[in-house]
Amino acid sequence: SIVSPFLKPGTVTKPHGLAIVQLSRDNLVPVYLQDTKGAHDGYAEGAVVNTRYGSFPHSTLIGVPWGSQIRASNVDTGSRGRKRKRNIGDEGGNEDAEDGAGAKQANKEEVEGNDEQVLPKKATTASSGFVHVLPPTPELWTASLPHRTQVVYTPDYSFILHRIRARPGTRLIEAGAGSGSFTHASVRACYNGYPLSDTDRKGKVFSFEYHEQRFQKMKVELSSHGLDGLVHLTHRDVYKDGFNVNGVSPEAEAIFLDLPAPWEALPHLSRSRPASKQSLGTEENPWVSPLNPRKSAHLCTFSPCIEQVTKTVSAMRRLGWVNIEMVEICNRRIQVFRDRVGLNLPVERGANLTPANVMEAVARQAEIEERFKEHARSGPSTGEMEIDEDVEADTKDGEAIRAAAAAAGYKVWKEGKLITKGEAEVKTHTSYLVFAVLPREWSEKEEAAASARWPCGG
Ligand code: SAM
Repeated sequence: SIVSPFLKPGTVTKPHGLAIVQLSRDNLVPVYLQDTKGAHDGYAEGAVVNTRYGSFPHSTLIGVPWGSQIRASNVDTGSRGRKRKRNIGDEGGNEDAEDGAGAKQANKEEVEGNDEQVLPKKATTASSGFVHVLPPTPELWTASLPHRTQVVYTPDYSFILHRIRARPGTRLIEAGAGSGSFTHASVRACYNGYPLSDTDRKGKVFSFEYHEQRFQKMKVELSSHGLDGLVHLTHRDVYKDGFNVNGVSPEAEAIFLDLPAPWEALPHLSRSRPASKQSLGTEENPWVSPLNPRKSAHLCTFSPCIEQVTKTVSAMRRLGWVNIEMVEICNRRIQVFRDRVGLNLPVERGANLTPANVMEAVARQAEIEERFKEHARSGPSTGEMEIDEDVEADTKDGEAIRAAAAAAGYKVWKEGKLITKGEAEVKTHTSYLVFAVLPREWSEKEEAAASARWPCGG
């Protein structure tokens, strides 16, 4: 039976499972939770995730409900004289690095230069705080996966999967697999639950990748994500050798090609053996179509340049594809936040307020609210406090709380109106999507059988 955390995450985090640790809105880190007891990697606490928001021993991330907020711990490094670790989140991601060199990896210890900086016994952190521990989903995986190539992002793949009609039970061909971003989204779309009876059609993704190293890495990843039974990954140059697996047709009805030259692969996606591809099939092993003969095939190709689109469309026309259409997804992210009267963001006054540090400040608001609630429970102390309108609404007695906070010595700040802003730096063009349909073919016999079943053509 399927135990993939992407399909059935359960309610709590598990040892050896994959979790996505969210540091801030756009900073997510995949972590394979280890239940190491005792010293590990030099830490008395066992495995530790070090971030710019503090240190999080895996033991504090295991066995908690998904979505939990986890506080940073004081971590005993277990030894002196260790070189300083660079923490996750210290610098921006180095995305799209073809060789994955910039991939943000959990637990990856990076020694900075050669300076012999000595850590104190209790690790100190730039700013201690909290993280959220989230269940793996294709969307979160896309946002946190180790990049080995350019990847397809959520706004594109949600539209693509809808247009190629991927749904439970669909058999889908994808090439190339690349970093597996699209693969994870498509496997969830096609999954229709195991175990099924033998006569049920099993949704499955047939994925192809010709780059040896990427193929190997992806194989390991699929295994550790419990997706072996649902994705069949083949090491293959699909331009040359097409899409059948050990001579057997995947019987696919949905296809996604993220390749530099989709027109080279299209002749293999025919219903009858293409004359131009002499290498396909022999007399002993005749060529079979990789497509489901009982259904129309829905295809999408993904190309960054218009010249690639032109060649692809031309090949599609020659090969009998219809309903050819090109679409570009122009995604725009809108930032929503509250303007503040008496700005009291936990960033320095006079600092340059970028969307990133405003968002970080907004994230810290939740922590501040929590402290306020704690204060309301445990009596007065001194300090400064912000009251969010929602908190006031929740407590039903905003004014009384405001007065209590002021009486307790808190300086109270009031939030202003809600602001929405387009984010200028979001890149809009990823690729052009070309969609097309290859209708199913009807033999005389099938036509007669269908007419007999539905005499009115219904
Ligand atoms: N869609 C992937 C994702 O979301 O992570 C990214 C795909 S990446 C842009 C393109 C991949 O196609 C590369 O990994 C490349 O090695 C592979 N590729 C290129 N030509 C190929 C071919 N002829 N057969 C199989 N794979 C190929």
